[in-house]
Amino acid sequence: MYRTSTCGALRASDINSEVVLSGWVHKVRDKGFVVWVDLRDRYGITQLVLDQDRTPDQLLDMAKELGRETVIQVKGQVIERASKNPNIPTGDIEVLVSELQVLNESILPPFTIEDETDGGEDIRMKYRYLDIRRNPVKDNLIFRHKVTMEVRKYLSNHGFIEVETPYLIKSTPEGARDFLVPSRMNAGQFYALPQSPQTFKQLLMVGGMDKYFQIVKCFRDEDLRADRQPEFTQIDCEMAFVEQEDILNAFEGLTKHLLKEIHGVDTGDFPRITFDEAMQKYGNDKPDIRFGMEFGELNSVAQHKEFNVFNAAELVVGIAVPGGAAYTRKEIDKLIDWVKRPQVGAKGMVYVKCNEDGSFKSSVDKFYNQEDLAQWAEVTRAKAGDLICVLSGSANETRAQLSALRMELAERLGLRKPDEFAPLWVIDFPLLELDEETGTYHAMHHPFTSPKPGQLELLDSKPGDVKANAYDLVLNGNEIGGGSIRIHDKEVQATMFKHLGFTSEEAKEQFGFLMDAFQYGAPPHGGIAFGLDRLVSILGGQETIRDFIAFPKNNSGRDVMIDAPANIDEEQLKELHLKLNL
Ligand code: ASP
Repeated sequence: MYRTSTCGALRASDINSEVVLSGWVHKVRDKGFVVWVDLRDRYGITQLVLDQDRTPDQLLDMAKELGRETVIQVKGQVIERASKNPNIPTGDIEVLVSELQVLNESILPPFTIEDETDGGEDIRMKYRYLDIRRNPVKDNLIFRHKVTMEVRKYLSNHGFIEVETPYLIKSTPEGARDFLVPSRMNAGQFYALPQSPQTFKQLLMVGGMDKYFQIVKCFRDEDLRADRQPEFTQIDCEMAFVEQEDILNAFEGLTKHLLKEIHGVDTGDFPRITFDEAMQKYGNDKPDIRFGMEFGELNSVAQHKEFNVFNAAELVVGIAVPGGAAYTRKEIDKLIDWVKRPQVGAKGMVYVKCNEDGSFKSSVDKFYNQEDLAQWAEVTRAKAGDLICVLSGSANETRAQLSALRMELAERLGLRKPDEFAPLWVIDFPLLELDEETGTYHAMHHPFTSPKPGQLELLDSKPGDVKANAYDLVLNGNEIGGGSIRIHDKEVQATMFKHLGFTSEEAKEQFGFLMDAFQYGAPPHGGIAFGLDRLVSILGGQETIRDFIAFPKNNSGRDVMIDAPANIDEEQLKELHLKLNL
């Protein structure tokens, strides 16, 4: 037997018992006549003690030689510690070693296995199995497990059935490129890895499963942005005989359950705002509402004066920065430089200091008097001591720029508190989105999303105005879930494909199976999918999803530990009927 208990289990109540422990040598402290060894496993650390009086010399010498991360097994007696360590649960005891066996040696690890390690990101990723021995990574994986279990428990208790869907499928358009898998047995043909189980979960509804979920890997070959993974995990869900309201209620329930179970937080009912409102108030369809700084549109009070920059703009919009009136000229100049960075792209920024005495000092005093600026303050809800930052230009761009500034300032002001949770629903998304480059429309969510009732007719005349039965769940400035009520009528689906630029042959070839299924009594249905990696990292109060994935890929989509992707040999290529053309 390798162990009678773990390295995290022993307490004062175990004193005098004989135990066997196995684990890794975390640290050896050699005082000559006495040696302490910290023995570590997933459950914690137990201090082992060997000394001249009570331990045979040979064993003492052996303990002195133990290298870090050696795997050992010891037998001994639990005794009371002379100097207790209140910082660890096993701190009242130590184990007086009577037998010691090395189970496996370890060469010197490339970084220290400590909470605060000396290893940089790259080296830790290459030796991820060593990184996982460290508490911060280990604890994150355990936390992820806990969240996942709560999800399964909640959904299962609410009648959802977990069903697995295949990974080797045909392309499902979710807006990204597919990862493709060549078929050896079908020369020249390829499977696609699912971008999501979207069509399969809809077919499960046609199959009468009624309430489905799956914690499932999805694959999207996108240009990697920071903190995106080419393979990621969704909590994928679908329900039959539902309207949008039913879905929002069901998954608000799940989210509340998680916040309660994991953090003991009661959030109350989630606010709901429309996509248009979100863009207007926050310039963003995933607003962080933990803090105010809502946009104030200033067109009516700032235009038609002498200031031509504003007169020429489609939108003049500002935010009030709490306490910002105290910024020095230099600090404000820096802020202006920040919004002018290419990543943000503003041409400039107008500002107004709202002085404590009720007067205003602005960068455009030449064009605006105190009454004008008082109106700006009213619109942006600025108080004495605030700074109003104003951007102008085309509506979409300016909103995006001001949103970036709002988030940056909130971050700097410490308003994005990781232990505060502010969920909300964003509803009534547009059905279609204009691709500025090609001038064509594509589905904003995906092609299976249904338009709002009565809006189908608008598809021809005003495609950009059609609203969808689509919704996102947003938490602290992140989209954590998104879904829609689906089209379940063959004709409507065909119309939709037509508007997305598919010929009827293409639609049939790619999605014939779904359209066929719709002919056999497809029930009304809808669903949602949560990004599990992101959800877990937000609930864990951290920013990077990589930290919650056991074996993540780096920013170039590589697994640096196993060194993938990798070349394959000629033989394999031939078998797959492939020729490289590099
Ligand atoms: N399949 C969608 C996605 O991956 C989610 C859904 O519509 O349920 O975003």
